[in-house]
Amino acid sequence: MSRVNVMQPWLGKEEVAALTEVISSGWIAQGPQVASFEATFARVQQAEHAVAVSSCTTALHLALEVAGVRLGDEVVVPSFSFIATANAPTYVGARPVFADVDPVTGNLTAATVERALTERTRAVIAVDQGGVPVALDELRALCDPRGIVVIEDAACGAGSTYHGRPVGAGAEIAVWSFHPRKIVTTGEGGMVTTSRADWADRARRLREHSMSVSAADRHGSTLAPAEEYTEIGFNYRMTDLQAAVGIVQLRKLSEIIERRRELAEVYTKYINDIDGLRPVADPAWGTTNFQSYWVEVSDPYPLDRDGLLAHLASVDISARRGIMTAHRQPAYAHEGLGPGSLPVSEQLSDTTLILPLFHQMSVGEQSRVIAALISGSGEERWTT
Ligand SMILES: *Cc1c(COP(=O)(O)O)cnc(C)c1O
Repeated sequence: MSRVNVMQPWLGKEEVAALTEVISSGWIAQGPQVASFEATFARVQQAEHAVAVSSCTTALHLALEVAGVRLGDEVVVPSFSFIATANAPTYVGARPVFADVDPVTGNLTAATVERALTERTRAVIAVDQGGVPVALDELRALCDPRGIVVIEDAACGAGSTYHGRPVGAGAEIAVWSFHPRKIVTTGEGGMVTTSRADWADRARRLREHSMSVSAADRHGSTLAPAEEYTEIGFNYRMTDLQAAVGIVQLRKLSEIIERRRELAEVYTKYINDIDGLRPVADPAWGTTNFQSYWVEVSDPYPLDRDGLLAHLASVDISARRGIMTAHRQPAYAHEGLGPGSLPVSEQLSDTTLILPLFHQMSVGEQSRVIAALISGSGEERWTT
């Protein structure tokens, strides 16, 4: 019996061929492949502008920069997210202010955000947690009239939909991740998408030291034009090697989503019959890509979350604790937020686990996971 992993990227011969071609071309840094990846991503996600960067964390930084968030501002974020969401405001001198999430979706809502707003709030980072689309329209209805920018953190959201369109399509600005734990991967990588040409232009410059002439353009000319550095920028570039892999991955996106949703449907069918287990599901306003297929464990299931994790591990199934909470990490001890300050986030984080789900998952592997969930419930019929 071999281990069932929680996630596995789906990479193959086509990605290898794309990489070989880029290496043979002699140009491996940001260049034509990045431009082509951006154009493809913008088309697939129905975004007006797309700017590729080195990770979603750097995309978050640039999004806050172009949105004009500065020293002394406040940015409302969920604590219930990967820690990069909470860290990014500090990069521009702002302070993250934690808001609680909805107990069903795990996402911010207009009601939870409203309680966290102050005179100093300049932006909100709304996450499509685990791929579940956030109710963006309600957030924008709250924030737009107040001049607060809503940044959609769609790190996990490629292939999810909101009111029939890809997530992020209705955002003024959104950020994406291509880490191997996400839906499509470039090893490391990220993207900023935005409806605003001025923000896209500035993000494009900031990612490359705010040079007036891009490196690709300089190297493309024999007598390189003199460049200027218009403001203090960064090196947040993606490489053409990464982008070439990303282009192939995007071609597979709909197939990946279709397979993930098939596997999720099978899980849900069985889990709905197990008392005390509640699986993540599509919200009324969209569809999830099931980037994280999480299950909430409660009474009368005989094991608690950690007990179930240990039970799964005992049969070589690698599940994961649910989403973390940033406010309970040592890095945020200075905020002085004691237990119970974000009750729903804490509850979800402590009682959920993420089940294995990946494109190549076999029927046999999934049956093993389902059998272990059932045997953990004390029922005999599936124990083998
Ligand atoms: C993974 C993740 C990030 C960070 O993405 P990187 O590409 O690894 O920097 C940010 N926000 C959320 C919600 C994530 O899940």
